[in-house]
Amino acid sequence: MKATDKKQVVLEILAEYRYTPPKVERGYANQTLYVNVSDNTIAAKPVDEKMKHTFVGGRGFGLWLLWNAVRGTTKWNDPDNEVILSSGPIGGTTVYPGSGKSIAVSLSPLTGTVMDSNVGGHFGPLLKFSGWDAIEVQGKADREVIVFVDGNKGVVQIIAAPELADDSYALPEQLLDLFAETDEERIGISSVSTGPGAQHTLMGCLNVSFYDPRRKFVRLKQAGRGGIGTVFRHKKIKALVVKYIGVKGDSNGPASWAELTEVGKRMHREIYEQDPIMNDMRGNGTPYLVSIMNEFDLLPVHNFRYGSHPEASNLYHTEFRKHYSLGIPDGCWYGCTLACSKCVERFQLRTGPYKGQWVHVDGPEYETIAGVGSNCGIFDPYAVLEINFYCDTYGIDTISFGTAMAFCMECYETGILNKERTNGLELRFGNAEAMLEALHQMGRGEGFGTVVGQGVRRMKQFFAEKYGADPAFLQDIGMECKGLEYSEYVSKESVAQQGGYGLANKGPQHDEAWLIFMDAVTKQIPTFEDKAEALHYFPMFRTWFSLNGLCKLPWNDVEPADNKRKYPPRIAARVPEHVHNYIELFTAVTGREDIKEPEDLVLMSERVYNFQRIFNLKMGFGTREHDAIPYRSMGPVTIEEYESRAERYDQQLREIGFDPEAKSTKEKLAALRRHREQRYESLIDAVYKRRGWNSQGIPTLETVKRLGIDYPDVVALLKEHLQ
Ligand code: SF4
Repeated sequence: MKATDKKQVVLEILAEYRYTPPKVERGYANQTLYVNVSDNTIAAKPVDEKMKHTFVGGRGFGLWLLWNAVRGTTKWNDPDNEVILSSGPIGGTTVYPGSGKSIAVSLSPLTGTVMDSNVGGHFGPLLKFSGWDAIEVQGKADREVIVFVDGNKGVVQIIAAPELADDSYALPEQLLDLFAETDEERIGISSVSTGPGAQHTLMGCLNVSFYDPRRKFVRLKQAGRGGIGTVFRHKKIKALVVKYIGVKGDSNGPASWAELTEVGKRMHREIYEQDPIMNDMRGNGTPYLVSIMNEFDLLPVHNFRYGSHPEASNLYHTEFRKHYSLGIPDGCWYGCTLACSKCVERFQLRTGPYKGQWVHVDGPEYETIAGVGSNCGIFDPYAVLEINFYCDTYGIDTISFGTAMAFCMECYETGILNKERTNGLELRFGNAEAMLEALHQMGRGEGFGTVVGQGVRRMKQFFAEKYGADPAFLQDIGMECKGLEYSEYVSKESVAQQGGYGLANKGPQHDEAWLIFMDAVTKQIPTFEDKAEALHYFPMFRTWFSLNGLCKLPWNDVEPADNKRKYPPRIAARVPEHVHNYIELFTAVTGREDIKEPEDLVLMSERVYNFQRIFNLKMGFGTREHDAIPYRSMGPVTIEEYESRAERYDQQLREIGFDPEAKSTKEKLAALRRHREQRYESLIDAVYKRRGWNSQGIPTLETVKRLGIDYPDVVALLKEHLQ
């Protein structure tokens, strides 16, 4: 649809709800929006003080709303499942960098249990300024619908979707054409959508838009993890659209504007001074990490077998930077001076439905480069950009796609798969053409691509049953835990990071804990107790960002100049001055006077983190067996892998009293494996203890009581499992 066609589009409104938009006060609109697309119900739900105190916002609100909507037997594709998006009390602040995130929550098709995924773009803040702290969409429509929130007029509508594009590249532009009455209004519209790949796979992502007024087109950020886009598509939601014109610095209704601007100014100054001499996120975006990971042997290569590659420099930020348009603010929300959301403005596609066209590509992020690039043996930046474009366009998570493809490529090279089994795709490491074809198959819903789209856990079972592959080998090399594909770091040499991945509530995702340097490089956390303490503090602290609508990057991707001089390493890793910024930021927005110390932030997160663990229990997960990880994330699976780092592994065997001399690699592999598996179990014991969980990983009654989440249904559930 072109803008000029707009007048010809007659919208069929299926339901309408009128409301008086409340003024946002101290970070909250104090109500959430409930929409049921089965029966076209639209309703407001109040947010009370207890909900704010216990769940804060963002991920916390999503979990609480979903907890009350589903039963333990609810499946991801039941109408009762919901897609919830929520910002958080700080979300929408324009004077502190990184304050525009939203969190999506749903039951995941990949894991079967609760998923959270954070995303930039303007949706969450605009929704709040429209008078809603969260949107909760339940049901399943009988035809495609758009949910439209007009925050200026105070109207929510469920609209039968007119004839619009089927993918997330063209659709968000068309939605602006449809809902903006003037060109100036384009900036006040944000949509959530996905594409056909989300329908044909279980790894669908959500694309959240924001209008880029300098470039004059719509940009996208992704809530990638866990297949929430698949749930969205299954519900026949074409898009969620919010329109709110008039964002101002104080739209979030801060308790103290003076304190807020003071802490904001301090942080902006620091970014302007320090970022260019630290990571230069403003110039490079997150791809700056590729060279560091390669240098430290942490970049996944060939399905996480190796941690570096001689051709990895083709994927360094220096290669992508050539294609960025620089000097343009690249924040995914107003006021983010760290501005890492880079864009390749003109890129000509070689394949697929947009073949030959010049398009723009949002990104690529580090995770995408490592996932669809090095981990699949692809060291061609153009191929990475093309895959990035089509993953977003089809609505597919680049992390799950990359990790699942890497698994298939190893299966292909070890003979588990062959051309006959892949319908002609030669899935060798480095074959970008075959990989792109598998991706297009996901978009079309045909061929081997749809097998890959089921994710690693289901493929393991399928390859064992159908092709007689060794289930133990598949378990070792299939990089998933809880059903979610690993994000893109090699954790073999860091037992703390193995826990960071394995113990994450939603599955292995680095946004919960990233401890590799502390553990394996600078060796600041030598004992199990030290590691357990880190696996308490960091996941809790990082959870706090997801409760508040904040981006984690300004916390530790830039630091005060004297951070490392002023504090001992273990403390410096927490970036204490930034932690204090967050206390000031939170109190300046919410006016809460009970949040004074870093421990108070951790306590806020602990409530939600434990609640999420218990939510997993409700859904039939959440115990020790579900924290088991594939051996490849602990150590070398194959002889080839061992021999690539033989010196290091031999030395480690000596340190545990095993003499590697005159031993075969097979014997050494087995000895190392015994040691590392035992070490992971010891780590789990220490972490459970530190978190106040029993030996099966279940929060104790004392723990939930201390945290104030001892609701009757929580206690009843725990009693059933603690017996
Ligand atoms: S640091 Fe990057 S991802 Fe985070 S809010 Fe800023 S632009 Fe968005």
